[in-house]
Amino acid sequence: MNCQYTEKISLLVDSEMLAEETLNVEAHLVNCVDCEMLKNDFLFFRRQIKESARQMATATADILPNQKLKNKNYLWRRQVSLPVSAFALIMIALAAFGVWSRTLRPGPEGA
Ligand SMILES: [Zn+2]
Repeated sequence: MNCQYTEKISLLVDSEMLAEETLNVEAHLVNCVDCEMLKNDFLFFRRQIKESARQMATATADILPNQKLKNKNYLWRRQVSLPVSAFALIMIALAAFGVWSRTLRPGPEGA
């Protein structure tokens, strides 16, 4: 594949180009089979990545409750072994997520 546009295809797929350049590359895609195929590949891989990320999140949600049951006897030991800095980091992340999720759903009950 020796097309000079191939590097720009990933930018196009990720919407990381200026509008003018986007039009330019899209016009090129009409005439270049290689770039059209490359664009389809990028879109395909992006869908795959999104899908596997979603599946991983679902799998983690399924596994975590089971692990909690299995490790019930070790819960005390695990809490003690958790470093204070890691605990603080988790609390900060949770607080940040709380603020962030509130900005997503503005409503009368959120205030
Ligand atoms: Zn091309």
